[in-house]
Amino acid sequence: MKIFDMHADIGMDVADKRKSGEKDILAKYHLPKFEEGEIGFINMACFFDGKETLDDALFMLSSLREEIDLNHERIHLSLDGSFVENKLNVIMSIEGMGFLKEGDDALAFVDTMYDYGVRLASLCWNDQNMLATGISGDPRRGLSSLGKAVIQKMNEKKIIVDISHTNEKSFYDISDVCVGAFMATHSNTREKQNVERNLTHQQLKAIASSGGLIGLVAVKKFISSNPNRQNAIELAQHAKAIAAVVGVDHLCIGFDYMDFLKEPFGPQSMGIDLQNATMSQNLLMALATVGFTKEEVEKIAYKNAVRFVSEQLQ
Ligand SMILES: [Zn+2]
Repeated sequence: MKIFDMHADIGMDVADKRKSGEKDILAKYHLPKFEEGEIGFINMACFFDGKETLDDALFMLSSLREEIDLNHERIHLSLDGSFVENKLNVIMSIEGMGFLKEGDDALAFVDTMYDYGVRLASLCWNDQNMLATGISGDPRRGLSSLGKAVIQKMNEKKIIVDISHTNEKSFYDISDVCVGAFMATHSNTREKQNVERNLTHQQLKAIASSGGLIGLVAVKKFISSNPNRQNAIELAQHAKAIAAVVGVDHLCIGFDYMDFLKEPFGPQSMGIDLQNATMSQNLLMALATVGFTKEEVEKIAYKNAVRFVSEQLQ
């Protein structure tokens, strides 16, 4: 069955490999794995931990966009929520805007990222920056007034707002400011694994009532603290717990595979049977095993995400 993976840090890998002189990185390293895992739709993220500069961000964005364009016969870059058969459907995103520093024009950057093709973005990773506060920042600090203005501008330009990695204060600031739906591309539920990257019931409900989605993440520490349970079945149990709170129509998948990234990321970060994109179908089998019907598995696998992204970008 086809899958929409709502979060993969492909931009970072492309930029790293291009810096060492490689080209055609998508075709060489990624497209074969997506094919094997039946990933038909993917959100390719440009990830920034906050230590970068605006130039670093522009390099990653232009590198990823070039790679996508280079493979236009195999990839459809969706800029307007359209999707096609027989090609890999891609949306481009930014994870964290901590590269914006004093003196950079954050609102002008929203136009710039849009022009590169970005249609989904988060204001912060775990860091605390000029716009927002991630889970490692001051828990009493949320969005800055500039951060709120950036959310408003993203709404105007129909760039989807991602709240994975924000602290709770930033989450509720976004929930207040954002017009329409927002989503968590890669976060599980705290009910099953009580870590800050996962969502409380109240957060799950806020996302669902906005019309947004929650993407199941296959990073082992967000699945379970028990090494024997860091697997697809336990992630499917997160799906059951989330569906019990908000319903199956608000679920999707954002694996966040890191097999291609260097330390401290890398394959050891992932669930046992969810190491890389080739193993993606294991989650769909696990969803069926824990009791989701075929129609429900289809919704979680790609139908909810296709519907949501089409609605948001049109
Ligand atoms: Zn992330």
